[in-house]
Amino acid sequence: MRKIPVYNHPAAGWSALIQSSRVLMDYKAFLRGSRSVFSSNQPNGGFDCPGCAWPDHNSYKAIDVCETGIKVLASETTLRQADAKFFAQHSVTELQSYDGHKLELAGRLTEPLYYDALQDRYIPISWEKAFSKIAKQLHKLSSPHEAMFYTSGRVTNEPAFLYQLFVRLFGTNNLPDCSNMCHEPTSVMLGKQLGVGKATVVLEDFEKANLILMFGQNPATNHPRMLEMLAYCHDQGCRIISINPMREQGLSRFRNPQKVTHMVAGGSAPMVDEVVQIQIGGDVALLTGLAKWLIENDKLDTDFINEHTSGFEALRAWIQAQIWEDIERGCGIKQSQIIELATLVAESSATICTWGMGITQHTQGDDNVAMITNLLLLMGMIGVEGAGASPVRGHSNVQGDRTMGIHERPAKTLLDSLQSVFQHPMPQEHGYDVVSGAKAMMQGKIKAFVSMGGNYSVAAPDSKAIQQAFTHNELNVFVATKLNETMLYPGQNNLILPCLSRTEQYITSKGEQFATIEDSMCQIVRTQGSLKPISDDLKSEAQIVAGIAKAYFGNQSKIDWDKMAEDYDLTRDYIAQAISGFENFNYRIRQNKRGFHLYHAARHRQWKTDSGKAQFEVPKHPITYVVDEMNKANNADLTKLQPEQKQKIWQLTSVRSHDQFNTTIFGYEDRYRQTDRRDILFMHPDEMKRMNLKVGDKVMISRKDAEGNIRNLGPLILSEMDIAANAVATYYPECNDLMDLDSHSTESLTPSYKSVTVLLEKVA
Ligand code: SF4
Repeated sequence: MRKIPVYNHPAAGWSALIQSSRVLMDYKAFLRGSRSVFSSNQPNGGFDCPGCAWPDHNSYKAIDVCETGIKVLASETTLRQADAKFFAQHSVTELQSYDGHKLELAGRLTEPLYYDALQDRYIPISWEKAFSKIAKQLHKLSSPHEAMFYTSGRVTNEPAFLYQLFVRLFGTNNLPDCSNMCHEPTSVMLGKQLGVGKATVVLEDFEKANLILMFGQNPATNHPRMLEMLAYCHDQGCRIISINPMREQGLSRFRNPQKVTHMVAGGSAPMVDEVVQIQIGGDVALLTGLAKWLIENDKLDTDFINEHTSGFEALRAWIQAQIWEDIERGCGIKQSQIIELATLVAESSATICTWGMGITQHTQGDDNVAMITNLLLLMGMIGVEGAGASPVRGHSNVQGDRTMGIHERPAKTLLDSLQSVFQHPMPQEHGYDVVSGAKAMMQGKIKAFVSMGGNYSVAAPDSKAIQQAFTHNELNVFVATKLNETMLYPGQNNLILPCLSRTEQYITSKGEQFATIEDSMCQIVRTQGSLKPISDDLKSEAQIVAGIAKAYFGNQSKIDWDKMAEDYDLTRDYIAQAISGFENFNYRIRQNKRGFHLYHAARHRQWKTDSGKAQFEVPKHPITYVVDEMNKANNADLTKLQPEQKQKIWQLTSVRSHDQFNTTIFGYEDRYRQTDRRDILFMHPDEMKRMNLKVGDKVMISRKDAEGNIRNLGPLILSEMDIAANAVATYYPECNDLMDLDSHSTESLTPSYKSVTVLLEKVA
């Protein structure tokens, strides 16, 4: 497709400063927000940015936070308050008409609230009453498996550990988390192939890499501090290739807001050398082409393969059976270009593969991660400096929560260890994840829902249906800092419990507490808020768990919940006993201002896999899976369409705007895509021309879901994007009612937000 420059400026730069300031003003957070900017990601008393999970570099900077991070801080440090007065003025029915951004601007939650159906309003309730109401409802359930306990990746390690402990002592593993909807294929496939479901690289490996392959990722918006590292790597001579259906505008040049030469003299640094613009869902086909050429030209690290891997022969046979015609059809890239890229891979002595949601949120999400890992194993790029797997997680402690035991499919080793430390049997049956949990709620199998942060119904597919299911629950509890849509579909008992934010001080009878997080690269880091809490009536997430646990167990429990909630050193001592890799936790976390790296066996070429070797995996779906699905929906081969036949079938992907963090909408501006609204459908201008469509036209999109129901979205306004052929894109999470709960990756059940086949029609 013709290259089109939608946004012609370097990423970040003055626009980042101006937009960050704008959002701080919009949120009435200029003073508290600006103050917290200087503590964000700072060692010794700073807090870890509650944005994404990109690691902190060892170098010291006075300001070490990006535009997205500042917007997240504005949301937390706002002086706006969604207090009792606010809820007295606004009924829940009225609030249901607010969009995500308007709810965001309502401000911080300041006191516990209970939904009064007669008034259709949330009204204040005391903490004691709230805890006893929750305990009473939980006791009414006929089984602990009728309750589901959700976690968003913002919860720090210590409260997360307490939360999973309470839930397991309560008697269930119904512990879904936001990772189910994002990097679950990463955790499942890296776990299967390498023995550890986490990145094998550390940040310093990037400085030693000579080839970086970035799959399905847009760091300019989703992890902006990565841009500085990419610019540094490029400057060191590292080749950086983006493999993505979209030519993301913020990836070509970076204007570093901390460089005078950039900001005053208008300088900027190059980052991505080349974009391999594959079709949506074309990753496995491209990776198969790379592997095919590397195998057929003997470019492999055979010593590594022979010594450290298992399953090579099966993979080689499968790859050799794939024909180039299918490889080209599956990814939309010519054999010659694939061979050029394969040559780069062959010549590289240190290759890092990084990836985001563009790899995982697909029906073939598991296959995508498996093929990236296969490529790294074929080239012996695991356990060497400057090389490895680098999935970048989109929530600051999503990886830490999983490590602390927030997992619906816990390992037996974890359950055994918890059982021995706490001398109490642990539930063995696997629990519900986000998708199966939503279905269970719709079927009435789930009667109680408790969430630690997050916006479950909006983040999940089929949002409206899930919101209706919430209205049938006997109990819904939301531990949160901000109001969101999921809280506005009350069941019989609905409670909002406001907690301290990451930027706020947590002072107990044991003094000022610090918590810890785990970033995308297994670094365990301290985080300590410094701002005075926005309200005296807030509790920490740990104190809230303790309050519920005490009310529920009464004096049945041998655990001193308050003591653990008030003294994080004590909680860390328990973590050190129960979670492998955290020995001497309290000592080690105080040794180094940047914390410590959690031991990662695969980095040392020790493989904790079923075979005891690094495991090659043969993909489960055909490499032409998406093209075949589109042709099936079109009842004909799309490539054989006559010019007069207007193409109706397209492959849709979803994107986040530059004014958004996960489901949180900070504003309507999407600078790098030049839009200022969210009811948008992006298409390449050449495709518009081919379809007699133009920018500004209104279109409807629809799809038949797995159950044969027709789902619609629109009208949407057409806007230009440098996106691959046969592809269109729209914003997440507004597109989630188009998505159903049955379209997901095979083993990891991650919804396929990034790739669904749709019918597109112009609105008269
Ligand atoms: S890159 Fe991520 S973690 Fe770093 S400051 Fe930005 S949002 Fe926060």
